[in-house]
Amino acid sequence: MSQTKDKKSVNKAKDKKAQPEEKLCIWDRVGPKEREAIEAFSLGYMDFLTSCKTERKVNSHILSLFEAKGFEDLSKQPKKPKHGGYLLHHGKVLGVFVPGKADLKGGFNLIVAHGDSPRLDLKPRCVYEDGNLALLKTNLYGGLKKFQWLARPVAIWGFSTLKDGRKLDFTFGEDPSEPALTITDILPHMDRKIQREKRLTEAFPAERLNVLAGSIPAGDKEAKMRVRLGVLRILEKKWGIREDDLLSSEIEVVPAGPARPVGLDGSFVGGYGQDDRLSVYTAANALLPITKPDRPLLLVVFDREEIGSYGPAGAQSNFIVRLASAAFQAMDESGCWNGVMSALANTYAMSADVECGVDPTFKEVADELNSAKLGFGPCVTRYTGAAGKYGASEASSEYMAKIRAILDGEGIIWQNSLIGKQEEGGGGTVAYNLSHFGMDIVDSGAPLLSMHSPFEISCKADVWMTCRHYGAFLRKA
Ligand code: MN
Ligand code: MN
Repeated sequence: MSQTKDKKSVNKAKDKKAQPEEKLCIWDRVGPKEREAIEAFSLGYMDFLTSCKTERKVNSHILSLFEAKGFEDLSKQPKKPKHGGYLLHHGKVLGVFVPGKADLKGGFNLIVAHGDSPRLDLKPRCVYEDGNLALLKTNLYGGLKKFQWLARPVAIWGFSTLKDGRKLDFTFGEDPSEPALTITDILPHMDRKIQREKRLTEAFPAERLNVLAGSIPAGDKEAKMRVRLGVLRILEKKWGIREDDLLSSEIEVVPAGPARPVGLDGSFVGGYGQDDRLSVYTAANALLPITKPDRPLLLVVFDREEIGSYGPAGAQSNFIVRLASAAFQAMDESGCWNGVMSALANTYAMSADVECGVDPTFKEVADELNSAKLGFGPCVTRYTGAAGKYGASEASSEYMAKIRAILDGEGIIWQNSLIGKQEEGGGGTVAYNLSHFGMDIVDSGAPLLSMHSPFEISCKADVWMTCRHYGAFLRKA
């Protein structure tokens, strides 16, 4: 009897509480000081998104932060670097190492993220003229919804290597004081046959994503393709790039304009490239202040994740082995194959990548119990993949328990998540590439709305808490 009475009174007390703690969002659960920290952190994050719109820019920015702290280039084989070291391969994949109190053989605490984002690339031969207008042909990179890229300002971020070895770095269309670029669309009055009556997948062929580049003819009035010539002359005059130099150029077409706060309450960050630069920025800022951790730490920013992690800078490459070996060499530990492989197998890893947040407008694809909500913190995603867990690794029961204990012990506000309902689609990231080494790895990152669009949306509170979350993992795993 008395027991029942007690239970009832406990239940009544619970009912009086408006919501259990885990049902309250971050904004409800932090004090005014942390709210200030959230705002301040979002400003630096937005600057980063605005100024780093290519994987090369992301790497050089992050590298500059660690260089400023005294990190040394591991390719130069430094001996026992005081703060740590880094390895940059071809400007495209960056690894950072922080020595710990424990030996390397016992394994690293590792965070991997990716610096590339869906975009359009200019084709090697791209400048052409049609209807007395000059246009630039593009190539898709990654999974984007093509119609989102039409009739909006875009910019080009270029990197060219000339035959004599000179390297050129340039952007065009970002600065409001210079012209923008754009990809045109057809007016609704005339789109019935070529768009409206077609399936979405057929209505926007990739070969129609052409950048409008000019209309002023150049050269001898008798000559042909004079508008095209006009554009080629501008390339040469502005940046010293001749048409053949485009063959050795990487020119990325990205949404123009800055990242900015969104919402009447300004609680969101809107901007291009948050997949996966949100994870890169938060993980790098989590790592920067850590000195003398218990276990050695690694951060890797891969390229090519959006197209399957192929190539020498992708997660399928041997970069992680070379980074671990370079750490062994720097610390004078035996860098034999067995030592490096044991270290990787004993590693605890987070695959830091953004997660699909529940969008109330499209909630039918979400699994209410398991999908992530904006404002409720970084997600821990035990497995990704598509129908039947295809194409994914899965974190073990033991590893999930370890992660839960760390995050709860450090007061991190986080959430469990899966991408959505099973047969609506699916996705994945680099965890399975790293899991080949036998390490424990779990996906983890902030939820986004409008992912892979030119204007992705995150919640400022999640961005901040994601940084704290990666910090807790690096220090405590
Ligand atoms: Mn991603
Ligand atoms: Mn992606």
